[in-house]
Amino acid sequence: MAGHDDEVAWARLTAAEIQARANPATVVVIPVASVEQHGPHLATGVDMWLASAIAERSARKLQAAGTPALVTPCLWSGLAEHHMAFGGTITLDEAGFAAMVGGVARSVARHGFRRIALLNGHGGNIEAIQTLAIVLTREIGVPVVGVTYWLASADSFGAILEAQPNVMHACEAETSMVMAVQPDGVRAEAIARAVPKRFAPPAPPGFKRHRPFAEMTDTGVLGDPRPASAEKGERLLEAASARLADELARPELWQ
Ligand SMILES: [Zn+2]
Repeated sequence: MAGHDDEVAWARLTAAEIQARANPATVVVIPVASVEQHGPHLATGVDMWLASAIAERSARKLQAAGTPALVTPCLWSGLAEHHMAFGGTITLDEAGFAAMVGGVARSVARHGFRRIALLNGHGGNIEAIQTLAIVLTREIGVPVVGVTYWLASADSFGAILEAQPNVMHACEAETSMVMAVQPDGVRAEAIARAVPKRFAPPAPPGFKRHRPFAEMTDTGVLGDPRPASAEKGERLLEAASARLADELARPELWQ
């Protein structure tokens, strides 16, 4: 057994080691994120760290259960126009985002992989990732599944969180998970003033429109980060990755 058989990170493997895994059953997870403002108490890399951590944990669970899996480096830049007014935010436009995600997915498919998952970790990317999953599946002729981790884990997240039903923004959920995976990305002393004096309720289920965050919250946060803890974050990360590994292992998803 070679020393790198347990490795799931694409970029830590050689080209030959990657090609040795290029069989039709291998799941390639492409984490997709964003670098944007997360209030006064969290660094801008939150979505990147969380999408990467959940992708890597999911791939390890898949491998442990007998499904070979790889994780590409995180595509760190996404659609974050609605956060720009707070500073610290980098956004692509829709065409640039589609070109980036498409280029990576097409490359993966050209090397012989036949199960590609776009694992989204940013609210502003949800609709674009769903559309790209459809468009790329048609274009490449290989199933490309799009998934946003907290929407896929709504039941378990709702049971773990105390102050909100699911991920909002720089909230109980995101703050907890950053405490677990990247504690130096949290400014604990700023958590109290991160709580918004006002924030707009989300659009009703099924409804969507563009709305700048500056209209929705005075601090850049949606929700309340005060009940966050690293222990809660660890439970969220485990729940999300277990759910994803379960679903991505099902042959029906790819047939
Ligand atoms: Zn985000």
